[in-house]
Amino acid sequence: MSIFKHLKFKVNFKKKYCPKCNEEQPKIRKPKGWQEILWGGNTCRNCGCKMDRLGNEREK
Ligand SMILES: [Zn+2]
Repeated sequence: MSIFKHLKFKVNFKKKYCPKCNEEQPKIRKPKGWQEILWGGNTCRNCGCKMDRLGNEREK
C-alpha cells in the first residue's frame, strides 16, 4: 500500500519555504491536525498558508 511509503518518508530534513510568502518553515513543528500528522504538512506561521510536506500549497 502506498500509504506506508508516505509515512516512511514523512521526516524531511530539507528546508522548506512557504509557497506564498517564502517564510522559512521550522523543521520541528506541531501538527495542527490529523492531516499534518498523516502527510507531514505544515502551516506557515507568517501567513497561515497550509502546505504539504513537499512545500506545495494545500487547499485544506
Ligand atoms: Zn507564508
